[in-house]
Amino acid sequence: MPSTSFREVQGKAPVMSSIAEPLRQSLPRQQLHAPDERPTFSIVAPVYNEQELLPEFYRRVVAAIEPLGEPFEIVLVNDGSRDRSIEIMHELHERDPRVKILNFSRNFGHQLAITAGTDYARGQAVAVIDSDLQDPPEVIPQMIERWREGYQVIYGVRAEREGETAFKLATASVFYRIIRRITNVNIPVDTGDFRLMDRKVVDALASMREHHRFMRGLSVWVGFKQVGVPYKRDARKAGETKYPLSKMLKFAMDGITAFSYLPLQLATYLGFTIAAVSAIGIVLAIILRLATGINALEGQATTLVAVLFLGSIQLIVFGIFGEYLGRIYDEVKRRPLYIVSEALGFEGEAPQK
Ligand code: UDP
Ligand code: MG
Repeated sequence: MPSTSFREVQGKAPVMSSIAEPLRQSLPRQQLHAPDERPTFSIVAPVYNEQELLPEFYRRVVAAIEPLGEPFEIVLVNDGSRDRSIEIMHELHERDPRVKILNFSRNFGHQLAITAGTDYARGQAVAVIDSDLQDPPEVIPQMIERWREGYQVIYGVRAEREGETAFKLATASVFYRIIRRITNVNIPVDTGDFRLMDRKVVDALASMREHHRFMRGLSVWVGFKQVGVPYKRDARKAGETKYPLSKMLKFAMDGITAFSYLPLQLATYLGFTIAAVSAIGIVLAIILRLATGINALEGQATTLVAVLFLGSIQLIVFGIFGEYLGRIYDEVKRRPLYIVSEALGFEGEAPQK
């Protein structure tokens, strides 16, 4: 939970402000400059090798949010980029102190970058958006409108998707339908991490410190008043996707294992089914042999097929156990979720993790 900041303490003691005036004047510019209130909106964006898109991203976010006339901050999380992203982020921060930077010590992955961004964000409403401009920042004001109506989680629903491969579209569609069916959280179909969350939701998410984070699932799991806003997901403007097939598979496994025990129970179901089928088979084989003299299960091939079949099923089940066991191991190690090597523009103490 974020601890009380300098600003909050000041806010609680207005009487002090006149006495403290000379002191305030001697404070470094950074603290003087920051308005004495928390930003209304935080825009959180994970960044991994997006040097071509960052300036444009910044420009479009400001163009979309500034007209609302309320204080806001842009929290950019550099997830161990190997290009010039961090230099560009520094330039943006120099020019506009509303741009705040979290620099990870290495690449921790998209979901953890989002987590760090929402941990540090101070806004009353926090928007999470990809920095590759696939999610248009212009949709955020529409989300804010719903927030003002009292909704607490406003998620973007991809009504249309441009520039995605047929393979990605097909696998995503199958995955979201499977996960909806087998988990006990109703993750809406065709949603990603693009969403606006109320402070209460962000605080609830911050209290959940699991390592294999499937944020779009967690933000549904917490409950609250939720609503979708349809939008057109654009094609990536530059650079390439950082989600190759291997990462997508791992992400899918994170989503399923985090919300469902069904894969573990598969062993039980399979066991009972195979036991029932073999019991029938055994009885049949005996009857056939005694009544007609036919040897129904003849030869080595039959034995081999049965052994290999059952052996492979057992291996698969072990593998599924392994998926859960490895994740449990990651949890019990209690390592921090991410390591921030540099935090720029944030006031007060860093949130405790
Ligand atoms: N990203 C990140 N860390 C990673 C991979 C991606 O912070 O390890 C960021 C990336 O910069 C982008 C967002 O997460 O802003 C989504 O990634 P990407 O566009 O590659 O995924 P896709 O849209 O293709 O699913
Ligand atoms: Mg993208």
